Amino acid sequence: MDEKINLRDLQLPEMEGLLKSMGQPAFRAKQIFQWIYKGVKSFDDMNNVPKALREKLTENCYIGTLSLIEVQRSKTDGTRKYLFELEDGNTIESVFMKYKYGNSICVSSQAGCRMGCRFCASTRNGLERHLSPGEILSQLMEAEADTGEKIGHIVVMGTGEPFDNYDNLSAFIKIVNDKNGLNIGMRNITVSTCGLADMIDRFAEDFPQVNLAISLHGTTDEIRGAMMPVNKRYPLNILLETCRAYTEKTGRRITFEYTLVSGINDSDSDAERLCKILRGMLCHVNLIPLNKVAESGFDTVSRGRAGEFQKILEQRGIPATVRRELGADIDAACGQLRLSKKL
Ligand code: SF4
Repeated sequence: MDEKINLRDLQLPEMEGLLKSMGQPAFRAKQIFQWIYKGVKSFDDMNNVPKALREKLTENCYIGTLSLIEVQRSKTDGTRKYLFELEDGNTIESVFMKYKYGNSICVSSQAGCRMGCRFCASTRNGLERHLSPGEILSQLMEAEADTGEKIGHIVVMGTGEPFDNYDNLSAFIKIVNDKNGLNIGMRNITVSTCGLADMIDRFAEDFPQVNLAISLHGTTDEIRGAMMPVNKRYPLNILLETCRAYTEKTGRRITFEYTLVSGINDSDSDAERLCKILRGMLCHVNLIPLNKVAESGFDTVSRGRAGEFQKILEQRGIPATVRRELGADIDAACGQLRLSKKL
């Protein structure tokens, strides 16, 4: 073996294959997998694994971790925002949040992003690279270690377009779902996409129980296209058709993320159009008053305006909520922490 293998990148069957190649039985892989997801970072602490095997593992493998560069702690609601450094010096952000139903983490799936959404700080320098499955899940492990609390819910909504890194996203989901490890239910995982329609089809096929969130942000191709270049590749009619097919196939409700931007997509007629294009679909709209990104040229709306917009949707039978402001006292738009360290 040339390069050392990060065992957090491996699904259990892959670990079994690796151990087999070392002349070991499958149950050893399960033991090691269980140790890793109990949070053990050194092979020496795996006390039911023979010493000779621990030495061999140390020679050929490692348990990848992230370096914590900065953590911002909310004094009001327990939210923690992390900036981590990867092995190659790239940085990523994650956010730990406390909800009534339990703890949740928002993880990044890429360092940077190539989708170019105009209101987003994460795309300013383009895509640096995809994150490996282990790098995605280490965000959760590090947050559990920092808070001393279990995390039962995951949203893949941090930096990056998860469907642009589909294979690693898919491996990540299978690893965190494994009952021998973190055992996080598929229904407790949400993946958010900017609307890569062909990948939504694939996702419905592969993970019918995982929740899907779509960044919509506009009700016409003109408005959405001005904010999200992806709309050229997958215009609204194609995206919405795919969404309807998704709900029919999976029976799952889609969450549409709709960032309210003053004077761009927050008028009464925007709200009415939104009802029209979503009519009859199994869905929920999450309204997000824009988190101001310096120099983006976009302005946020008041919570009052967000409430009025929500009311129009609800009066027409579209379930909608205004996103609760978590960690408002530490708030900076997603991606800004990372950006501020880079400039
Ligand atoms: S909003 Fe998401 S998909 Fe769009 S540029 Fe930012 S990270 Fe990428």
